[in-house]
Amino acid sequence: MATPITQILPVLPTIDEHHVDRRRYPDGVAFMDGQYLPMSQAKISVLDWGFLHSDATYDTVHVWNAKFFRLDLHLDRFFGGIERLRLKLPYDRKKIASILNNCVALSSHRSAYVEMICTRGSSPTFSRDPRQAENRFMAFAVPFGSVANKEQLERGLHIAISDTVRIPPKSIDPSIKNYHWLDLVKGLFEAYDAGAETALVVDTNGYIAEGPGFNVFFVKDGSLWTPAFGVLPGITRRTVFDLCTEIGLSATAGDISRADIKAADEVFITSTAGGIMPVTRIDHAAIANGRVGPVTRRLMDLYWQKHDDPEWSTAVIYA
Ligand SMILES: *Cc1c(COP(=O)(O)O)cnc(C)c1O
Repeated sequence: MATPITQILPVLPTIDEHHVDRRRYPDGVAFMDGQYLPMSQAKISVLDWGFLHSDATYDTVHVWNAKFFRLDLHLDRFFGGIERLRLKLPYDRKKIASILNNCVALSSHRSAYVEMICTRGSSPTFSRDPRQAENRFMAFAVPFGSVANKEQLERGLHIAISDTVRIPPKSIDPSIKNYHWLDLVKGLFEAYDAGAETALVVDTNGYIAEGPGFNVFFVKDGSLWTPAFGVLPGITRRTVFDLCTEIGLSATAGDISRADIKAADEVFITSTAGGIMPVTRIDHAAIANGRVGPVTRRLMDLYWQKHDDPEWSTAVIYA
């Protein structure tokens, strides 16, 4: 006779059905499985390959003063990743734009960090064949978040350059925005150990690549430079190129050594989570005079002004 299961398993404490989850969740609204939910209820199965295998793509767009910034570019990048990963979305582009709008509207945030995600999902028969998985789409809007806090934006971030190599483009196409972050997280811990606030990791040739969720630029003799290889083509990075064209500054993507960036006049990082953010120390050494430089300031100002430009923004419909 089989041993009753209660003799094998320890007795689990009973879970109160009305159990209150006391963890704090960001204030916001998510969309999943056709429904809008408070963030505390937006949960996925542990069997989802997005979780088990990082088999997913996503994009992050922000809302500032009740307007999405460059939403079309974020949707283009998201749909590009979906196609290259052979994922299928249950909704078209227009419907996804309206879901993102509704997450923001239902959250009532005027400024928000908005994420859209498509995971491989899982197979109804638990098959290991990714073609049989039912892909899942989800989205959420939470308060606007930044890589740098207010103080860091004023005085500039302190960064450490890690020896960790960013996952090479031949393994994972970096233009597909992804959650392969173990290299970036390793770099972050190394940076904290070294007393810095965030990290840059390198590419397979030892040139500077990017950091956890951001691209990097430096200014030398009035011209801008940013890594070309092994980086996610950020929309904020692209925006810096567009702003440079408008104001007549030269900006070039190429190979950037540690020595190049340390000898710069100015350094800044770029991300949807925070925009253009100054860096004033690398590996404990000051960049130039250690203060936020004039080119960085000018680009930061222009970047935020552009959030009201109808060509680059889409108003959130709250009603
Ligand atoms: C999202 C991201 C960036 C920044 O891209 P933006 O479109 O400017 O937000 C840079 N690197 C990585 C790895 C990212 O995931």
